Amino acid sequence: MKICIIGTGYVGLVTGVCFADLGHSVICVDKDTHKIHNLKEGIPPFYEPGLKEIILKNMEAERITFTSNIKQAIEESNIIFIAVDTPALLDGAADISKVMAVADTIAQQKANQLKTQSHFFVVVNKSTVPVGTGELVKEMFFQKGLTDDNFAVLANPEFLREGSAISDSMKPDRIIIGSYSEKAIEMVEALYKPLFRIDLPIIRTNLETAELIKYAANSFLALKITFINEMANICDAIGADVHQIAKGIGSDGRIGRYFLHPGPGYGGACFPKDTRALVKIAEKANCETKIVKACIEANEAQKKVMIHKILNYYQGFIEKKTFAILGLSFKANTDDVRESPAINVINDLLKHNAIVQVFDPVAINNVKKIFGDRIKYKENIFDTLLNADALIILTEWNDFRYIEISKIKELLIAPVIFDARNLYDPKQLKDNGFVYFSIGRDNC
Ligand code: NAD
Repeated sequence: MKICIIGTGYVGLVTGVCFADLGHSVICVDKDTHKIHNLKEGIPPFYEPGLKEIILKNMEAERITFTSNIKQAIEESNIIFIAVDTPALLDGAADISKVMAVADTIAQQKANQLKTQSHFFVVVNKSTVPVGTGELVKEMFFQKGLTDDNFAVLANPEFLREGSAISDSMKPDRIIIGSYSEKAIEMVEALYKPLFRIDLPIIRTNLETAELIKYAANSFLALKITFINEMANICDAIGADVHQIAKGIGSDGRIGRYFLHPGPGYGGACFPKDTRALVKIAEKANCETKIVKACIEANEAQKKVMIHKILNYYQGFIEKKTFAILGLSFKANTDDVRESPAINVINDLLKHNAIVQVFDPVAINNVKKIFGDRIKYKENIFDTLLNADALIILTEWNDFRYIEISKIKELLIAPVIFDARNLYDPKQLKDNGFVYFSIGRDNC
């Protein structure tokens, strides 16, 4: 079986290299010719631990190729994955125009090919799409004269996390495969089989259920984060410790200890857009989503928590004060800054005419595209701290955990830290003369 993956972003590229690593023959396609040019040289388009190595290994083994020639890739393949982006429209609904454009190209190409060569192919949607999209794709294929004997459409939503994408793909908790075609499900299951020695953690569903599982999973995780953030704000107000709250509730197996770390609000390319899209999916079906709507609203408020602490401390006057920001990506181990809380904090500081100097181990170039010369970009932690009035930590990179406290004190104008990731021990900092604000532990 020859696999083609259309869209070589975080999901498409990682899926492609992991399938290649399992021994399959994979063609990765993208319309971005610059990206493809670099990939042919073994250069990944974004930072992801272990990605470059696995690309090079599989290129060398001739199991993976990269191309912008979508038609040829489709013609040569019988399992075609769609992994293009589905960003939010202005009203919050998911924009599926790129998925539909790719589906249209597949339908046209396969309709032509089938005139001379009979075969069965499957279209697997990995993009996160609203319920009903798989049916729309099927309809498009029928309109091109294709029949159930020629093709099937599957939904196979992706659950990898940026920063641990390779290991998530190689050791998935579960694989969701939604389709009405038994034959197609078996073809796709066969691709995943090398991952597991005994039981395949595969959940077979219909198309609609698979599409909704993805939104349900992301919205539930967003809720968990938002809940602990809300607890953190209560902790700040009453003098409790949010980490002990997290431990206290997370040790209960019904709650679970993951995703109970407080912070500056969730961000990234998935949770914000998928929660908003779920509200729209429900609205379309005349259903209410009171909890998810509240979660979105609470998260927007959470992105303001740090700037409120900063303004409170300086009594509203931060004009011309210099802030050293460590961490720009929406979480550690990625260069992705889409909907990163750091963007909100920087915007708020600039609105108050503060001076902002920033450092991130890998995300600086992406932030330059947003802020240009309105902020200063530094090459390392110490240059960033030098002569700043205060330090603000916005991403939980490991590099930031072990900075010597004495060094921070020496470089800053005043020993003031606003830590949105709770990287340091409040007592230790206070004992060393720091004014230290974190999330959910300020009065401990
Ligand atoms: P991305 O923006 O990183 O990559 C999308 C790629 O598709 C880009 O390289 C773009 O050039 C390419 N593309 C767009 N239209 C194309 C076309 N017509 N032909 C060929 N290539 C085309 O997106 P992503 O983060 O990989 O997300 C892809 C989908 O997976 C989205 O629906 C997203 O919600 C979902 N998802 C993302 C993650 C994540 O962590 N990023 C996790 C799970 C699911």
